[in-house]
Amino acid sequence: MTKRIFRSICLVAFAVFAASLVLIMGVLYGYFSNVQQNQLRMQTMLAAQGVSDEGSVYLDHLETRNFRITWVDASGEVLYDSHSDTSQMENHLEREEIQDAFEKGYGESRRYSVTLLERSLYCAQRLEDGTVIRLSVAQNTVLTLLLGMAQPICIVFLAAIMLSVLLAVRLARQIVKPLNELNLNEPLSNREYDELSPLLRRIDSQQRQLKWQEAELQKKQRELDTIVENMKEGMILLNQTGKIISINPSAAKLLNADHHCVGKDILTVSRDLELQEVLSKALGGEQTERTMAFGGGNYRLEASPVFSDLESDSELQKVVSGVAVLMIDVTEKERAEQMRREFTANVSHELKTPLHAISGYAELLQNGMVQSDDMIPFAGKIYAEAQRMVQLVEDIISLSHLDEGARDMKQEEVDLYGLAKAVILNLESEAEAAGITLELSGESAVMKGIPQLLHSIVYNLCDNAMKYNHRGGRVDVIIKNEETSALLLVRDTGIGIDPEHQKRIFERFYRVDKSHSKQVGGTGLGLSIVKHAAQIHKARIELHSVKGEGTTVAVRFPY
Ligand code: ADP
Repeated sequence: MTKRIFRSICLVAFAVFAASLVLIMGVLYGYFSNVQQNQLRMQTMLAAQGVSDEGSVYLDHLETRNFRITWVDASGEVLYDSHSDTSQMENHLEREEIQDAFEKGYGESRRYSVTLLERSLYCAQRLEDGTVIRLSVAQNTVLTLLLGMAQPICIVFLAAIMLSVLLAVRLARQIVKPLNELNLNEPLSNREYDELSPLLRRIDSQQRQLKWQEAELQKKQRELDTIVENMKEGMILLNQTGKIISINPSAAKLLNADHHCVGKDILTVSRDLELQEVLSKALGGEQTERTMAFGGGNYRLEASPVFSDLESDSELQKVVSGVAVLMIDVTEKERAEQMRREFTANVSHELKTPLHAISGYAELLQNGMVQSDDMIPFAGKIYAEAQRMVQLVEDIISLSHLDEGARDMKQEEVDLYGLAKAVILNLESEAEAAGITLELSGESAVMKGIPQLLHSIVYNLCDNAMKYNHRGGRVDVIIKNEETSALLLVRDTGIGIDPEHQKRIFERFYRVDKSHSKQVGGTGLGLSIVKHAAQIHKARIELHSVKGEGTTVAVRFPY
């Protein structure tokens, strides 16, 4: 910018100088030409007067150093010339000023010499005798004037240039200095040039916009970082050479790495061959998925190549610029899948046994192989097996209903004591038949719950306490109000459960003694239903059992 200002100022100075020179020269030249012309006119008149009075004698004594005098007769022949030999001179009749003088008495003209460096002024006057006196003077042209003044012009020109340069440098510095000192962090605080105000206002508004955009971007980045940091899925971003660009804490934990691994090759972090295979496929542009074991769990590994456009030979090509790896915990899903498979197999197996028995008995009856006395016991067996199946199907339906969360059932105020009383009333005849004393004690405990589910909890626990008991044994059902929960306690003096089985009896179809369970009409689903129903009520189950002494199950329903 300084250079530009400097150049402009110099150019203007030069142009002004040249224009002034032309103007001054023009005016001066015009003025001196007029003066010279007037002088010549005057001298012509004087010479004409002299020649009229004295004839050629006048011309002989005339000082003609500064001008040329010519005397021409009426036919144009030169009678006298102060600078040339008259015999050598041509006829002057054709000359413009002489013709005018012959015609009008006086004539003037100007002519350039061959070189254009000199101009001659001519004045001619007719005398009374018909002859013409002509005076001419050489006049310098503008060009000769210029050449003659070359030295002073050069001096003035150099002085002007030096002054312009000095001025230009100072001026350029003065203009540029405030611009260099502009405070662009606070554009509106600059007051030096009013002309810059629109620009500064624009800069200020753009800066504010940029700051806002930056804040927004940072906010979004923070949000994204928080999500990535806290997500339980592992996430790794690799560049095209397999170096780690980003890794979230979940992924680092699974690979036993720390945050220092960023920038390192993934192969230095994990030597797992299966992982390497998945990553190399993804780096080759192939979306790859695999289930792998990490940190004691099963993880679904999804490696997706990240493509970007590359321009080569004016064609857009897609190239792999990195890989995004997602590690999703599928341990629970796989466990649930496994459980579902086991459940289906168990259900089929459990249903198959009574069905085979029923079909066997029915076949015998059909073939007439059963004597009439045995008919009733056979029918009884078919009925018992069918009942088992009904019980099994009912339990399966209850369980799947509980698996769905029992959303259609409504919670209401229930007195646990009243509910237990109803269950015991139901089981009294059964207990009597088995020779077991079934007793309820405790107090009223009103809680919020689903009556049907609470009923199945009390029923299944009492049913088990009776089923796995001895003749003459006891079952005590106790209801209590505790500080933060309602307590249901079912205590029996039955066969008890070995510690090794205690953990598993709440699993589906798990029985300690399969044949005994079947004998007493168990399906292996009773305690699973209790567990699920308790979970829906956020209740805690505690089991205390001693083999050969009895079992106590406590269920605490929080208020
Ligand atoms: P089942 O229909 O076979 O009774 P449950 O799920 O109710 O199935 O119980 C699972 C197993 O736990 C039973 O088969 C039994 O071996 C054991 N069990 C449950 N309750 C008791 C108890 N009160 N005393 C001894 N064993 C019990």
